[in-house]
Amino acid sequence: MKGVLFDLDNTLYAAESDLFGLIDVRINAYMRDVVGIEAERVDYLRRHYWEKYGVTLRGLMHEYGTDAEHYLEYVHDVDVSSRLQPDPELKICLQKMPERRFVFTNGSSDHARRVLKCLGIEDCFEHIYDIRISNYMPKPHPYPYHAALKHAGMRGEECIMVEDSLPNLHTAARLNMGTIWINSRTDGRVSHVDAVVPDVARATGVIGSWREMRAACAQ
Ligand SMILES: [Mg+2]
Repeated sequence: MKGVLFDLDNTLYAAESDLFGLIDVRINAYMRDVVGIEAERVDYLRRHYWEKYGVTLRGLMHEYGTDAEHYLEYVHDVDVSSRLQPDPELKICLQKMPERRFVFTNGSSDHARRVLKCLGIEDCFEHIYDIRISNYMPKPHPYPYHAALKHAGMRGEECIMVEDSLPNLHTAARLNMGTIWINSRTDGRVSHVDAVVPDVARATGVIGSWREMRAACAQ
């Protein structure tokens, strides 16, 4: 394996920190206060956009002509440091990996940089691929995967993806990537993912064991 694509939110930090909850509030505020959607319709529209477009942003772009950059700046304007602390154990795990490491997120790279800085792992990644890489088309659509692979100069079978979203891993699997699902509530194996672990540090352990297996097979 040459590279690992790490999702950002609820993958590189635990979902329990509820940082995403702060972003959630900002998305609702954007729809209500900036776009002018009635408060009672916001929840329904967000669900509808998720089902139809994959992310709220695409729905707002299509149906309200929302400026994507303005939206990204507004919804990610949250106090990341109020929810995240440095994770020196994760830093050591990442630094020990010989594979190339990337962040691959549906958020913005500015938000990703703030998160990585709070976790103390901003130097652990070669590049951040954000939703801009495919003209705001989000995972699990295959466009951003192809764009990230092309930029990194890798093929799908040379990559592993670490994610908390199953649909996002399904696309990765279809592109022949190895898949690791971050989920602390599921025991045992899940079909169509290669491994399930409760946190990202353990994902790096799984990647290490795959590396050792391949090395043993090659001898
Ligand atoms: Mg995520």
